[in-house]
Amino acid sequence: MVKGAKSNKKEPLQAEVNIGLIGHVDAGKTSLVEALTGKWADTHSEELKRGISIRIGYADAVFYKCPKCSMLFSVSEKCPKCKVKGEPVRKVSFVDAPGHETLMTTMLSGAAMMHGAVLVVAANEKCPQAQTIEHLNAIRVLGLKKIVVAQNKIDLVDKKRAMESYREIKTFLEENGCENTPIVPVAAHSKANIDLLIEAIVKTIPRPAFDLSKPVKMYCGRSFDVNKPGTKPAGLKGGVLGGTLIQGKIKLGDRVEIAPGIAGKKIITTIEDISCAGGKLKEARPGGLIALETTLDPSLTQNDQMKGQVVGAVGSLPEPTQVLALEIEFLERQVTETAKEVKTNELLVLTIGTMTTIGMVTEARKKKIKVALRSPAIVEKGQSIAISRKEKMRWRLIAFGRAE
Ligand code: ZN
Repeated sequence: MVKGAKSNKKEPLQAEVNIGLIGHVDAGKTSLVEALTGKWADTHSEELKRGISIRIGYADAVFYKCPKCSMLFSVSEKCPKCKVKGEPVRKVSFVDAPGHETLMTTMLSGAAMMHGAVLVVAANEKCPQAQTIEHLNAIRVLGLKKIVVAQNKIDLVDKKRAMESYREIKTFLEENGCENTPIVPVAAHSKANIDLLIEAIVKTIPRPAFDLSKPVKMYCGRSFDVNKPGTKPAGLKGGVLGGTLIQGKIKLGDRVEIAPGIAGKKIITTIEDISCAGGKLKEARPGGLIALETTLDPSLTQNDQMKGQVVGAVGSLPEPTQVLALEIEFLERQVTETAKEVKTNELLVLTIGTMTTIGMVTEARKKKIKVALRSPAIVEKGQSIAISRKEKMRWRLIAFGRAE
């Protein structure tokens, strides 16, 4: 081989769609991510044990189709049955949202990065569990309609219970206006029926259509300082922002603004490096989770400090605001009739894109409310905003609002 011929390496394939794994805390979401991707998404349980901040986990997977038997599979390039190389069908990013009830707001901010979702329901538990309802409501409120149900843990129940669980799920979906949602029985631990789940995902959650001609916009879901302790100043890498593009394209060397920025002032930075799970990119487009290395001081991006920020073409993002006018709609079932009212001076948690912020109601007239935000946010007209209220020591999704 000619020396250097290998250096012309192909750029990695960027994922085309982000799929959320949602559902109740014990439904087995993280092991399902493992069965689909071969990787553990950054585990929440570890973080819970250590008592540190709880984050959204990410993992990418390529789905392959076997040219011989047509089976769909992932994790390995080779068909598990025929041992021949599969053809790549689609690359997806999985977003694993925590199911613990106290982490509802984390789940909501993760939902801003999803294009579709797999709702995981455990066959050995009654359906719906509290977070099954809440997660399904949350993603529908935020406009996600492409859903597949994974009826997990079928290896732990007998046939009778499996059928009963299936009927519970079916009824639950019908009651929530999702009667056409496919239900796939799986066992994440023994990897049973994962091929059927992939098939349902590919069919139900198509590649979203993105507008590449619009100015670039990215929701920031995480941020990092990637430098090892003790790195000399000359070797320091700039702050890294993780998230997903909503529209437009971004390339190396682009100057972008980050808003609301710091203390309500936008920041301008330059893109030094772009990467996805498969490696480095020269240019990124929507679909899939990416990381942008910037010229920002890494101390600004450490420990997810930039989560909730929006990255956009310079001058394209609205000015940060602390005053929000919303037309709200309460979620049926979630809220009792008497509680279907927001009162002046009430504190609410608002999820705006990937940002979670507290706001105080300053005006409430039936469905129209005004909220003073504790910290500035980027809000676009018509944007869907999830509204949670503190009930019994936890934040509960009660309504959604449309920004006026
Ligand atoms: Zn095969």
